Parts: sequence; C-alpha cells; structure tokens
Amino acid sequence: METNGKLQFVSMPDIPNSSKRVILEYVFANHTNYQFWSRVKVVDREPKTVNDCPAWDSYMWNSVYQKDSEFIPMLTKPVAMFENPFLKSPHKLVLCDMWKTNDEPAGINTRVQCLETMERLKNDPKTGFRPKVPHDPWFGIEQEYIVTRSDNFPASYEPKDNDYSTLILYCSMGHVHDRNVALERDLSMKHLQACIYAGVNACGCIRENGPSQWEYQVGPCPGVEIGDHLQMSRYILLRLGEQYGLRVTLKSVPVRGEAFFSSGHLNFSVRKMREEGGIKFIHHAINLLAKSDPIPLLKIYDQTLDQGNTERLTNTSGRWHPKQDEFVFAGDRKDFTTIRIPPLVEAEGRGYLEDRRPPSSVDPYAAAAGLVRACIFGDFL
Ligand code: ADP
Ligand code: MN
Ligand code: MN
Ligand code: MN
Ligand code: MN
Repeated sequence: METNGKLQFVSMPDIPNSSKRVILEYVFANHTNYQFWSRVKVVDREPKTVNDCPAWDSYMWNSVYQKDSEFIPMLTKPVAMFENPFLKSPHKLVLCDMWKTNDEPAGINTRVQCLETMERLKNDPKTGFRPKVPHDPWFGIEQEYIVTRSDNFPASYEPKDNDYSTLILYCSMGHVHDRNVALERDLSMKHLQACIYAGVNACGCIRENGPSQWEYQVGPCPGVEIGDHLQMSRYILLRLGEQYGLRVTLKSVPVRGEAFFSSGHLNFSVRKMREEGGIKFIHHAINLLAKSDPIPLLKIYDQTLDQGNTERLTNTSGRWHPKQDEFVFAGDRKDFTTIRIPPLVEAEGRGYLEDRRPPSSVDPYAAAAGLVRACIFGDFL
C-alpha cells in the first residue's frame, strides 16, 4: 500500500486468543543493521525466556559488501525476547543474530564483537587489567528518523521551508507558519507506547527540526543490550509504519545532496562517571577522544555502503551536526559540537557524555564497542 506520506490507519479488530499456542515473530537485521527481515513461527507453549525460543535458519548476506553469491544459509539464533505489541501477550517478538554455523558467527554479526569488547572491560586479555570497580557500561541512543514521500523527500517537505538555521520545528506542536507540523505525531506516540508494552527500554520522543523528522531515545541500557533494544525499537517503528501506510527511513541522508540529516547520538557512561565527582572521568574519556584519530571510529559509526554519514559530517550548508575534521568539545559553537556534556550532567558533576557523530543508520553493537575502544582503551590514539 502506498499512500505517499498521508496518514491512513489500516487495521482490523483484535482476534481474541482462544488457544494456548503462541506466535513468535522472529526478527533479524540484514547486512546494513538498520533494515529488517522477519518470519513467524507457532509454538505450543509460551517461552519463559529467550532460551526457550528455538534456533531457526534463514538466508542472509554475510558481509556489508553485499554480493548475491553471499546470500547464504544462516543459523538464526534468538538473543532477546520481547512482548508482541501488535498481537499482544503471550505472543512474542524474538530478536536473532546470524551465525554461519553453530560456533561461527556470520561476518555481519557485530553483536558477537560487541560482547567481546564488553568482556574486555572486565578483564583485558591484552594488558591483563581487571578494574577493581567494575566499569558497568551504559549506553543510550537518540534515534532520529524521517517519514518520507516515495521519492525519499520528507513527507511534509515544501521547498520554501528549506531553512534549518533556527530550531523552528524542534519540539513544536499544532501549527507553525500556518502549517501542520505534527502529521506523524500519532506514529511517534504509538511507537513509544508499543516499545514500552514490548519491554523495550525507550525513554522519550520529540518532534525534531526537519520536515517530518522525529526522534525517540532508547536507554540507558547496559552493554550489548543497547543493541538489542535499539534494534527491536527500530523493527517496531518500521512495522507500525506498515500499518499507517507511512514510509519511515533510518538513513542519515535520505536524498543525496539535500540537507535532510538524521543522527543517532550515542550516550555513554561507566560506573565511575555516574558516581560523585564522576565528571573528571568524563573529561578523561573526552581527552582520549580528542587525541584519537577520528577516522577509524567514524568508519565503525558508518558501515553503510553509501557512506551517508561522511556526507552529513562534511556538508557545510546544514547545521546542527558535527564536522568530520574538527573536534569541538562543547564551547560556544554548539551547532557543531562533536562531544557534549549535557548541562544537567555538568551541573551535577557526574553522569555521561554524548558523541553526536553517529548517523541515524548506526549499527548500535559496532558503535558501542567502538566508543569503548576509543575512549576507555585508547585503541585509536
Ligand atoms: P539530547 O539533549 O542530546 O537531545 P536526549 O534526552 O534526547 O538528549 O537523550 C539522552 C540519552 O542519554 C538517552 O538515550 C538516555 O537513555 C541516555 N542516558 C541517560 N543517562 C545515561 C547514562 N548515565 N549513561 C548513558 N546514557 C544515558
Ligand atoms: Mn521454504
Ligand atoms: Mn535528543
Ligand atoms: Mn536530535
Ligand atoms: Mn543529542
């Protein structure tokens, strides 16, 4: 169904559960890690934990450098289970990762690499270092997205609006300049409710500044869970989009050459940063980032083939996004801030830091691991 951005809710009344059988919607990302596949399996008993969900198989690309010949059989292993907000409990959404064989992860399986980096925080095999106070890493991601027309322009885009020099639409409601600014609010709010129902740790949403641009936040989540929760929140969003007949894009640059940019700001803390006086550990991490070569981390932040984030970070016409070749820590040029300490964190002297470089299409597992490598281990100095 194509309604070209117009809101149209298509649904039918709920069918009551009359049997003990449970529907499991298996969800997995492809090589991009921001596009999803799903298939459905019926089981006779309600799974109590993800370990009760059987492995399955499916076909998928093995590499981000997708070639037809790499569309190979995979083992699809459940890693996280959520309630199903579309069918309601006891039906489930089951997130899976991809394995070539039972013990060999697929090339596209960045979750396994993320787990390794999170383990390295407990016990670094390279240096033998085991911190006395566990790092206990937490992450939060601000997921921006745009509802688009079929040509990928924002649904409510009109050329005369193409000015983002002020935050005119950010947090707006009702009508601004005689235009309805909130055509997609029902999608945004239903998405938040659906995430909460599912058990996805979503913590808020806002109307963003671009035409038909919105954001929701996930977190804080410990370690690899940020990826599990973000991926399921994305699936729920795209799945709701199906019901509304709305096209949702997670691309950071939906139209090449046009300054509609979406980010996926990555927020991060370890236990010492969250405790009294933690700001000094936040500054320590930021100093490591400032001294590091940014390129390896930016490559981890954008593993897409179209390298949209490079366009975003080198574009000079848009505002509100950092620059690839300039490290700006807070300061007065707030538009271009690379790493930010949120004002409340500054005021309380403890909390977390925010890296504003990741794109909306970010692979959360790779990014979380990359940021730890950069600002805790100093791998890119
Ligand atoms: P912004 O002011 O940059 O728009 P938001 O309110 O949109 O910030 O998002 C804040 C993000 O920070 C959320 O994803 C939230 O989960 C995350 N966050 C909050 N506290 C912590 C913490 N201690 N460690 C890591 N992330 C955190
Ligand atoms: Mn078949
Ligand atoms: Mn935000
Ligand atoms: Mn934002
Ligand atoms: Mn932010």
